[in-house]
Amino acid sequence: MHRRLSEPKLVVASHNAGKIREIAALLAHLSTQVVSAGDMGLPEPEETGLTFAANAHLKASMAASASGLPALADDSGLAVAALDGAPGIYSARWAGLDKDFALAMRKVEQALVEQKATTPDQRTAKFVCALCLAWPDGHSETFEGDVEGTLVWPSRGEKGFGYDPVFLPHGCSETFGEMKPEEKHAMSHRARAFALLSAACLVAD
Ligand code: IMP
Repeated sequence: MHRRLSEPKLVVASHNAGKIREIAALLAHLSTQVVSAGDMGLPEPEETGLTFAANAHLKASMAASASGLPALADDSGLAVAALDGAPGIYSARWAGLDKDFALAMRKVEQALVEQKATTPDQRTAKFVCALCLAWPDGHSETFEGDVEGTLVWPSRGEKGFGYDPVFLPHGCSETFGEMKPEEKHAMSHRARAFALLSAACLVAD
């Protein structure tokens, strides 16, 4: 049995503006008031987990116990097949302290060139998202979604965030960086994880 969210207020346990924007859009149909961890002055915990699910749980449970409210956290990243799943859970760290994703995308491209990965089937990757909803009493629910595609170079598009401009989802002609937000939301790893969470834990109004 999954626990359903019945509280009137929820913390989004993220300090990443791109993620907060996407999660707030996914929660927009609920009457639950959404506040971000940054708005509440909560600290950003160190992500010491070894999986997306472990890091999502760590962030959500810390925000729930610090705020006394249910908290929703996302841990996500880009897993490149030819790089044995890197940058994976370290996707944010590849961008350095300046959060320079042009640099992170160049590093991925350089690593692919070193692997002589030139054809689309050698350049497959997936975005993975783990979402964890945690309550102050320690209960939590975690769901995972992914979306598969190939990496293009040079990058294309200015929309989205992070690695979006190099990610071309299978069956699409536009990268996540070129698509309208609603097109990305219809198929993204985050939307897929959210659909599972929503079916299990959220009650639409
Ligand atoms: P973390 O979950 O805070 O460790 O950060 C995950 C990192 O993965 C983000 O900073 C982005 O670089 C990348 N990432 C996660 N989701 C997306 C997405 O939807 N588009 C592009 N990059 C993403």
